[in-house]
Amino acid sequence: MSYSTLYDVIVCGGGTAGVAAAIASARGGAKTLLVERIGTLGGQMSVSGPPGFAYARLHNHKGERDVGGIVQETYERLYRSGHALPHYGYKVRMRGAYTFEYVDPDWWTALMFEMMDEEGVELLLDTLVVGVTKDGDKVNGIAVENANGRNEIKGKVLIDCTGEGYVAIQAGCEMAMVPKEKIQPHTLAFTVDGIDWDKLLQYIRSHPEQFSHKQLMYPYDDKNTEEDVREMYRRCYDIKELGEIMGFYELRDIALANNDWHPYSGAGFFLTPKEGGHIQAHFQHSSQVGELSPTDAWDLTKCMVECRKQNMIAWRFFKKYVPGFENAYITKVCTELRLREGPRIVGDYVLTKEDVYETRQFPDTIGKSSFKAGGYHVASLDTLNVCAEDRADMTITKDGGSYDIPYRCLVPKKIENLLAAGKCVSTDRPAYLRYLHQTMVTGQAAGAAAALCVKKNVTPRQLENQVKDLQDVLVKQGAILFETVKDTAKYGV
Ligand SMILES: Cc1cc2nc3c(=O)[nH]c(=O)nc-3n(C[C@H](O)[C@H](O)[C@H](O)COP(=O)(O)OP(=O)(O)OC[C@H]3O[C@@H](n4cnc5c(N)ncnc54)[C@H](O)[C@@H]3O)c2cc1C
Repeated sequence: MSYSTLYDVIVCGGGTAGVAAAIASARGGAKTLLVERIGTLGGQMSVSGPPGFAYARLHNHKGERDVGGIVQETYERLYRSGHALPHYGYKVRMRGAYTFEYVDPDWWTALMFEMMDEEGVELLLDTLVVGVTKDGDKVNGIAVENANGRNEIKGKVLIDCTGEGYVAIQAGCEMAMVPKEKIQPHTLAFTVDGIDWDKLLQYIRSHPEQFSHKQLMYPYDDKNTEEDVREMYRRCYDIKELGEIMGFYELRDIALANNDWHPYSGAGFFLTPKEGGHIQAHFQHSSQVGELSPTDAWDLTKCMVECRKQNMIAWRFFKKYVPGFENAYITKVCTELRLREGPRIVGDYVLTKEDVYETRQFPDTIGKSSFKAGGYHVASLDTLNVCAEDRADMTITKDGGSYDIPYRCLVPKKIENLLAAGKCVSTDRPAYLRYLHQTMVTGQAAGAAAALCVKKNVTPRQLENQVKDLQDVLVKQGAILFETVKDTAKYGV
């Protein structure tokens, strides 16, 4: 059976990439359907999240903003309504390009529902995309399963925003994937309230050497010394000024000796803002399970069972050893795993770590990023570790600037009428564009491109020759494509 409506654009998956794609597509005048497997929007942002640093690293090492568009628009709306924290642009953090524009993930989701309504995006929730319909190499619809049974829905352009490239795989696209023995470990996140922040801050101030400084080092000269970072911890009286609170080295080692810690993860957490400036702690480094495939349900099940065990170990450790956690309590254990690494499409261009290093500019840019390449997580006591054999993959931009993301990374080879956005766009392993802001940048571009294809009656691949028109649309939607912006004072304190 098939639903009678023909959509211009069907967005598959309602995570960060999917919502951005749907908004941009509808803004481009396309009749847009967003199909999501579960009953809400947000994916890893709010269902299996919140991510530690929701909306972070929107500035490069030079302190210039390189992400705008829907990311900035949604941040500003949440900030104005009291559901986001100001951008704390402290010198040490700015140099480390490790600043945060924290948003409340639950209110972020509420805003997404509001925006779907405002833009006229049609939603189909609780619906699994199980396949595509094709005419030769051209996709022209999806097969879905939901409470109504199995149906087909026709669309002129499809956008795969499923995170793991599920639609692209069904369409027969060539995919790239690291073997599961090497895959980055998955995590089960949980959120905690009731922490005595003053007590914890007292411990942080008096034990700055017990916390991680690696993320905050300025990699281009010795402007940020270890001592600068320690001084930042020593002077911290407001937990909101800190981002990642990782380390607790001494306490962790005592716990290890007492069999109260596991060897798969460092100890630490991120922050999540709630109403009225209230802060919760969010744990995502507490469970690290490697060598399990994100596209195998048996492996995912094994992972969930192991993650649950590791979470309990982490939780008992914090309650027993960490000052300020005595009366803390868990408010949310996520229902889904956070998957760090999955399949990527092989597109008309494959973004590489050399492009990242060279801060390469492309004529078909659809957005920018300054995130380093190859920063893999491994299951070890130091979660930001990289296996010795993978160390050569780690690359920062050579001058602290930003690189372009080409439109061609969104266009899969050979298969027509399909675009990819989010985690599964075309990159080599180190240049993987999986961070939230990156997924929303590619999502927005894919949505705008799909709408333009329908308007012009061209395929996404043919649009590569008219990419200037796409860039005009994106610039009008506030995206940063060409020049980075010096706006650090805007929300800074
Ligand atoms: C442990 C961990 C910590 C992270 N921390 C951060 C962080 O602090 N900051 C940051 O910027 N990034 C972080 N990330 C990365 C970031 O959160 C994700 O990579 C990003 O959210 C992925 O967005 P996406 O839209 O591509 O995919 P997802 O968020 O996975 O969205 C995919 C959506 O598609 C739906 N879907 C899947 N298959 C189907 C189907 N067949 N039919 C219909 N719907 C389907 C899913 O239900 C989901 O809603 C982290 C990731 C992990 C794993």
